[in-house]
Amino acid sequence: MVAMQLDLYKASGADLIMGAGRFIAPKTIGVGLNDGGARVPIGDRVVLNLGTHATIPDTPGLAAAKPLTNVEALELDRLPDHLVVIGGGYVGLEMAQAYRRFGSRVTIIEAGPQLAGREDSDVATALLEMLRDEGIKVHLGTKVLGVQGRSGQTVSLQLHTPSGDQTIEGSDLVAAGRTPNTEGIGLELAGVALDTRGYVAVNNRLETSAPDVWAVGECAGSRQFTHVSADDFRIVRENLVGGDRTTRGRLVPYRMFTDPPLARVGLSEDEARRQGMPFVSRNCRSSRFCGRGQRRRRAAS
Ligand SMILES: Cc1cc2nc3c(=O)[nH]c(=O)nc-3n(C[C@H](O)[C@H](O)[C@H](O)COP(=O)(O)OP(=O)(O)OC[C@H]3O[C@@H](n4cnc5c(N)ncnc54)[C@H](O)[C@@H]3O)c2cc1C
Repeated sequence: MVAMQLDLYKASGADLIMGAGRFIAPKTIGVGLNDGGARVPIGDRVVLNLGTHATIPDTPGLAAAKPLTNVEALELDRLPDHLVVIGGGYVGLEMAQAYRRFGSRVTIIEAGPQLAGREDSDVATALLEMLRDEGIKVHLGTKVLGVQGRSGQTVSLQLHTPSGDQTIEGSDLVAAGRTPNTEGIGLELAGVALDTRGYVAVNNRLETSAPDVWAVGECAGSRQFTHVSADDFRIVRENLVGGDRTTRGRLVPYRMFTDPPLARVGLSEDEARRQGMPFVSRNCRSSRFCGRGQRRRRAAS
């Protein structure tokens, strides 16, 4: 993939500079080159495509416990005895199910009232039943108050659950959070404002607060999918040649790689309800997705 992308760049005739960049003045980037030296490109127009990086939440003892992030969890060459996953979003759920099927005991801790917080509640309930059927423990509405120990050996987590405080033990810990790469790169020198969560603030044409500076992909707070970042690029390209495409109302297909997988495109029922849009409801329980969980439970009983 990397070689293919590099070949495409070379074929395009674009100048590709490999290094770490930061604004040193508006539209002016100082780049420390990977193989030594520096370059200072100045653009008429600048597009920021900075992405995000794995981060560990600010919970007492969590950083000291050296949890796996999504990067290390994909590279592990041993089987955890008991993996505790903090966060019941797509990445956390995919990892939880994969490690359970490899043979680990797995516990998921989610602060919100349901798994996969953006999905309709019947879909989230089906996911919960499916994972519990496989023997995964799930704590919903649960806050991690503190962590002791070291991931890879023994960890102990103090939890605040809806039914009271409790402590659980595990062997390994995964923290699946992501933070935008917007710190320490001189955005303030370029007049590029951030939103309250630290993402580059953009309008629906992906223009930032600085003239002729755009931001695309995850750093602009777009949905965290490869094809959304690619579509952000299309929006900027069309606006540069006089078009008027925006991020408003775009349909984002996506898929969560659980088994069975969950795929969706368009509004959820909750989103349609919030927008006052009429819809026909087909309860998730009649779908194949739920059917498999029910079959498993029937087989188990
Ligand atoms: C575990 C995991 C699973 C995922 N699964 C899926 C999936 O199944 N389907 C899907 O569609 N998406 C998935 N995603 C999300 C997808 O990978 C991202 O949405 C996508 O890569 C974002 O693209 P981007 O261009 O916005 O940022 P990135 O791909 O992060 O690219 C940004 C680049 O900018 C570079 N950069 C940052 N700051 C600087 C700087 N100052 N100077 C120079 N370079 C800099 C970074 O090094 C990086 O190479 C997954 C993500 C994770 C973490």
